[in-house]
Amino acid sequence: MVEKPSLCQIPEYNVSCVGCCKVDAYDSREELIEAIRKNTTEYRALMDMNPAIEQKEKFFDMGANIDRDSGLCSLLIYLDEAETRVGCAAHPNIHGVDYRIKFNLCNTPYECKHSKKFSNLSGSKRKLILQRLQKEYKGDWIRLSIDMEEERIKL
Ligand code: SF4
Ligand code: SF4
Repeated sequence: MVEKPSLCQIPEYNVSCVGCCKVDAYDSREELIEAIRKNTTEYRALMDMNPAIEQKEKFFDMGANIDRDSGLCSLLIYLDEAETRVGCAAHPNIHGVDYRIKFNLCNTPYECKHSKKFSNLSGSKRKLILQRLQKEYKGDWIRLSIDMEEERIKL
């Protein structure tokens, strides 16, 4: 079965959305960025040690998803060194296993109405939308995520 394209992560167009992961938890961009840096540091500190699968699983099973006081998910991390993309540390694209499902970490099947609509469009229409989002947001994943979550984006 061919997987339908979701709108969440499309690096070729600089689109990185995490509107589902409570990015509106902070009042300021700086606080949000610092919290994600902290998540990323904690996550990488364990993964860089090349842990055995059991340790990895323990990380996801033992409170890795406990919300900070703000409500921001602790599994939200930077996906690249340049801090241009953010995403879920438990996503199957990273580990080959969907730890969100395995450890019941969040509402994984959820997909927002924009992403659903996007996935059902033709390739040429999807391309036009991506070009528009790239031009309008210029890689600003915070603004894109909040606009997506608050349904301010028209597809
Ligand atoms: S708000 Fe939509 S596009 Fe953004 S992460 Fe959630 S499902 Fe994906
Ligand atoms: S587990 Fe992953 S997808 Fe779910 S809220 Fe946390 S970062 Fe987002």
